[in-house]
Amino acid sequence: MTRYVFVTGGVTSSLGKGIIAASLAKLLQARGLQVTIQKFDPYINVDPGTLNPYEHGECYVTDDGAETDLDLGHYERFLNRPTSQANNVTTGRIYQTVINKEREGAFLGKTVQVIPHITDEIKRRITLLEKESAYDIIITEIGGTVGDIESLPYLEAIRQFRRDVGKERCLVIHLTLIPYLKAAKELKTKPTQHSVKELLQAGIQPDILVCRTEHPLPNEIREKLALFCNVDERSVIEAMDADTIYDVPLLMLKEKLDKTVLKKFNLKIAGEPDLGQWKDFLGKLKNPTHEVKIYLVGKYHELRDAYKSIYESFVHAGAVNECNVTVIPIHSETIDAENVQQRLKDADGILVAPGFGERGIEGKLVAIRHARENKIPFFGICLGMQCAVVEYAQNVLGWKDAASTEVNPSSPHPVIDFMEDQKNQHIKGGTMRLGSYKCKLAKGSLAFKIYGKTEINERHRHRYEFNNTYLKDFQDNGLITSGINPESNLVEIIEIKDHPFFIGVQFHPELKSTVENPQPVFTHFVKAALTYHQK
Ligand code: GLN
Repeated sequence: MTRYVFVTGGVTSSLGKGIIAASLAKLLQARGLQVTIQKFDPYINVDPGTLNPYEHGECYVTDDGAETDLDLGHYERFLNRPTSQANNVTTGRIYQTVINKEREGAFLGKTVQVIPHITDEIKRRITLLEKESAYDIIITEIGGTVGDIESLPYLEAIRQFRRDVGKERCLVIHLTLIPYLKAAKELKTKPTQHSVKELLQAGIQPDILVCRTEHPLPNEIREKLALFCNVDERSVIEAMDADTIYDVPLLMLKEKLDKTVLKKFNLKIAGEPDLGQWKDFLGKLKNPTHEVKIYLVGKYHELRDAYKSIYESFVHAGAVNECNVTVIPIHSETIDAENVQQRLKDADGILVAPGFGERGIEGKLVAIRHARENKIPFFGICLGMQCAVVEYAQNVLGWKDAASTEVNPSSPHPVIDFMEDQKNQHIKGGTMRLGSYKCKLAKGSLAFKIYGKTEINERHRHRYEFNNTYLKDFQDNGLITSGINPESNLVEIIEIKDHPFFIGVQFHPELKSTVENPQPVFTHFVKAALTYHQK
């Protein structure tokens, strides 16, 4: 009998619902329960694939090729379990499904309305994950903030769902902010009271309040919140700002969030959750014995979330190497041949980031040349790998006009080109090469050394590819194509000779790094940076 936890947010956005949901899930999983998390986003885009990284942060891609919200990355990093298309639903997708059904005539002449048709579709989606696997608990995070117009159908669906399956199987956790007024030296509960009132108006009494706060919640504040928001006092959970998101499961454990949930569901509480591996990781993370600086050359740095999974992969890889990895964001547009030495002067490693479009390409090429010629560890991801191929063509093969057709459609040497099946593709949403693909590694290569096997699976999200017309020219001139897609023969990994660590990957390894399974290209890159640093 599956139980359902809904996580809503109040007062402001960006309170970290995803982290709280993932932390609760981690604790329950560590108690031996089967748990999964899904996110419902109230915007009209069918998926986040078409959203600007400046506005919405990274687009996270699942094995089955769904372009999803970056919170799914947290779910995977915390739970060490892959998510899928079904774990992220938007209002756009809900409406698309309902409208398609209407066009098919499935509603038999009925007037199609938000209630019941949209809410029915939301309710159907709540339980969809149960078809994939049996779960004890499904956590559903509702994006946005209670009080937004677009959240209303979701709240109504939760109200109905709770009524349908019974209160004993449903819980609502409301994540809220308790602001601190410096002048008055006081924590304030009023915004939370109002936010809970909004929920009540939608027919939902929250069961648990998780309170984001910069200061510990004194008992009288807990009592006040409990009284005014009609929850029991033990259900007021303090969520203090943490040094790292990976501390949050332990903070929630201390506040007994997991026990409170289990109790409300009348589930057995036996002993404590097994967090041994998690604590080992935290121990290493917090006590590094080394230090390296990695420059992240990209162009979406205005919003740190645009490279979320890359930053998190470095946290995991740093812990493995007991090394504090300082990732320094650098705008590729600010790098040129004159200043590169200066701009990247103390780099122990250079990562050229994924991205789209021609802006900032020159700086990326300059940074890659700098890493290649000065034997600084280099790691190129997706566009970063494509740029490494272009740089090699321009400066080693001597084709000064070589380019990716994304940047120069009329280049005489289109070393990175549109895939055949992309040429007539005019629809933008969901049409890239997406999701997990097999890749065969060449024995004796750096890639083989990193992964320790000849067959891997990694996730993709791109339209352009290494152009195999030039494969021989590259190979004859020292470029190693060490990873090949066995079905399409596409080049997925490139390396070069006589360099301590130079690797470009067409896929996105950052999407598969978790606390329990740090991604090997990242861990080896950090190790190489450390060796470079020590020299
Ligand atoms: N813009 C490139 C492509 O579409 C690279 C995409 C990426 O870095 N994710 O192929």
